[in-house]
Formats: sequence, C-alpha cells, structure tokens
Amino acid sequence: MSLPGSDERASLLRRLPSVDELLGRDALAVLAGKIGRRHLLEATREVLNRARDRLSRGLAREISLEELEAEIANTASRAAQFSLRPVINATGVILHTNLGRAPLAREAAQRIVEVATQYSNLEYDLDTGQRGKRDSHTSQLFARLLGAEATLVVNNNAAAVFLALNTLAAGGEVLVSRGELIEIGGSFRIPDICSRSGAKLREVGTTNRTRAADYTAAINEHTRVLLRVHPSNFRIVGFTERPPLEELVEVAQRHGLLLVEDLGSGCLVDLEPFGLRDEPPAGVSLRAGVDVVTFSGDKLLGGPQAGVLVGKRELLARIRSNPLFRALRVDKLTIAALEATVALYLRGDLDAVPALRMLRLPYETLARRAEELARRVAALPGFSTHVEEGESVMGGGSTPGQCLPTRLVAITHSTFGASQLAARLRTYNPPVIVRVERGRVLVDLRTVFEAQEAELLRAFETVSQSTDALSGVV
Ligand SMILES: *Cc1c(COP(=O)(O)O)cnc(C)c1O
Repeated sequence: MSLPGSDERASLLRRLPSVDELLGRDALAVLAGKIGRRHLLEATREVLNRARDRLSRGLAREISLEELEAEIANTASRAAQFSLRPVINATGVILHTNLGRAPLAREAAQRIVEVATQYSNLEYDLDTGQRGKRDSHTSQLFARLLGAEATLVVNNNAAAVFLALNTLAAGGEVLVSRGELIEIGGSFRIPDICSRSGAKLREVGTTNRTRAADYTAAINEHTRVLLRVHPSNFRIVGFTERPPLEELVEVAQRHGLLLVEDLGSGCLVDLEPFGLRDEPPAGVSLRAGVDVVTFSGDKLLGGPQAGVLVGKRELLARIRSNPLFRALRVDKLTIAALEATVALYLRGDLDAVPALRMLRLPYETLARRAEELARRVAALPGFSTHVEEGESVMGGGSTPGQCLPTRLVAITHSTFGASQLAARLRTYNPPVIVRVERGRVLVDLRTVFEAQEAELLRAFETVSQSTDALSGVV
C-alpha cells in the first residue's frame, strides 16, 4: 500500500469537518445535553487533533464522519465520568482498604442524604436552644451499646490513637509490648505515632512473650500510659504469651497509670458465633477497666471512616480539649452515617450492616450462587468455569489467619490469559475487581451484592463479545 503524497494529505486534511460541524451532529448534540458542552468541545478538539496527526503522517487515508463522531462520544463520555466510582468487589475481601473498606448500610446512606441536604442540629441543643456538641449524637448510642461513659469521634483510628497519646502521655513514657509494635497499612506504625504524639516509647517484653511483670519492671517516674495494641493484621503462633487484660488493668491501677487500648477493628458485638475468633468486642475492654479504648468506624463496625474513642468521662474531656481535636474531628456526614449504623446494632439488625451480613452469609447460599454464576459464564463463548473450595478474607487488618469458607468460581478463557481477563473486567463499567490465582480468574460472590449479579454477568458477556470482534478482524 502506498502512502498518500503530500498533495493528497493536504486535501485529506482540508476535508476534515470543523468543530462546529461535528458539534452540530444530532448524536453529539444529544450527548452535550447530558454531559455538558464543555466536555464535548474538548473531546472534539482532541479527536480532530489526533485525526490531523494521523492524516499528516500518512497513517490514515480517510477518516469517516461516523468514526470521528464515535471517537468524540467515547472520549467525552470517559472525561465526564466520575473519578471515584462504585466497583463490583468480586475478591471476597470484605474490608478491602483499596476498595473503600466497609460498604455503608442503606439506612446510613439515607441518613447522610437527609442530614447533608438540609440544616441540622449538628452543634445545637434543641432542648436548651444553646450551642451543643457534635459528639452528643453518638455518645448516647455507644453508652447503651458498650456501656461507655463517654465517646469521641475523630477522622480515623490512627487519629484516635494519636490524640489519646498526645493528650495523656506527651512528655512522658508509653509502655508497649514488643509483640505489639505493629504496622497497619504502610503508614501507621505504633512507634511513629507514639513519637509524633510527643511521648517516648518504652518497649517491654519480647516479640513472642510479654508478661505483666515486664510492664511492672519498666515503670518509672516518667511512665504515663500502658498502651495495648490489638495485633489485628498478623498472628504470632507457637511459644507465645500476652498478659490477660485484667492483669494489665491491675498493673496500671496499682501504679496510678492509664491503660489505653487500640483495638483496631472495632468489633461492637461478639462475632465468635459467626466464626470470627480473636476480635475482642470493645465493651469487654471497657468492663475490664481499660481507661480509653479506640477503634475504627469502617472496619468490622461496618460504618463510615472514623476513629472512635470510648472510655472514662474525665479522660475523654481532656482529649476533647486538646487543640488538635479540632483538626481531627469529623463532619456531619460521618456522624449521620455512624449514628445510623450503630442504631442498627441497637435494633439487633446485624444483617442490615453489609459487612456483617457478608461475614455471616451461609456457605450453602454462597455455593448455590457460585454454581449459578459458573453455569451462566460457562455458557458464554470462550469461557470455562469450575467451582471450587476457597476462603474469603475479612481484610482491612482484621482477623488474619482466620478462614471464612466459601465457594469460588474459577474462570478461564480460550483467548485471554487470566490477567488479561482481569484487566478487561476492570475496565468494564462498573469495574469488576477479581482475584487472579494460578492462571485463573477467581470470583468470590461473598462480597458481590445479589443486586449486582446481573451486572457481573453482563461484564463477562461484554468480554466475550469483545473477543468475537477480535476474532472477526483476524
Ligand atoms: C486499622 C488499625 C489502625 C488504623 O485505623 P484507621 O481507622 O485505618 O486509621 C490502628 N490500629 C490498629 C490495631 C488497626 O487495626
């Protein structure tokens, strides 16, 4: 094939339609009505530039109006898409930090809309007509649910731990077991949080064994706080020892020190009956006599991103008056969602909290749904499926090494390798996120809402059609 000569190229370029001509076309005018003229104008300029480039470099002879139109519509629609979008989480990781941790309960989302789109009594006491406190909306609920004397809510659990140490231990020493000097998600390290809070960290015990006596031996006149950290994202197994909470409470009280516990996950009820061991409920710590307990709002609690501090009234009042509290406090949307979520616990409606519902999904239900999806995907051209035994993961630094038995749909494709298949699913709208293991795509329906299953199937259909198109070209 001969490349067009320079005269021919010039005439091809002249024949390209103008921006106005393109924008006047029916389909694009309709699209402009939907997504706005601005996106369309920019897309048109961009596509025309690309077309000019291709023509002048002799890479194309003819670009039809329809082709230009389709490319403009595509480019403009992509540009108009939100950057933060819902995805289908088919990984089986319930609290996937990269996928936004806990999905909110419908009730929580509705409360956000109601409170956010109108004025509210965020800091207004309706009884007295005086200025109120934003914490008041959640403290009653946590008092009832956990027996907490007082509650504070801040931006996340990292902020809660930081604020507690900065208020209660700055200038003094904090004792932490060597087995609890943990790192969560890359940027939260207990030693760093401790030093930034202005407290000096004193390590006690060893990595695998620490006793109450190790704390006692390390206490001196600078000691302010004993910090106990829930090892939420790893397990030390074998020859291990950790003092029971009661012994630590006793050590702290005997020496007039404070005991602060970072629970991490924020389990509000005992989840052991549902197969989740080693996640101590916050109420148990409070009853044992811990002074301040902190946990996340968007891990096992299943609510919005937040850090909750519960504990002794006088201590929380001190934390509240720390000037940094103002910098770390939460907004009304978080309070609305947190209040609605905790209210579901009080109502005993755990299934209304998606993370808890997913955690408690019966194995038989998962097996039935997996068989159904496997059958339907296998009926699409190019796909083979196989249902197998597997494990879902709590995630979000909760309950490591614990298995939630599930049924996985293992999927392979005659043309695409597993990672190509995963990439195509990821670029579907809404994006579908899967696991890739040993050359197969794995789908765990535990984290896929039943209402999303039809869309999930459409994603596989779209992938199989895109291979049809490919094989048509070849
Ligand atoms: C997750 C976790 C944190 C950090 O909580 P964020 O809410 O993510 O800030 C701190 N400590 C422990 C033990 C955790 O598990």
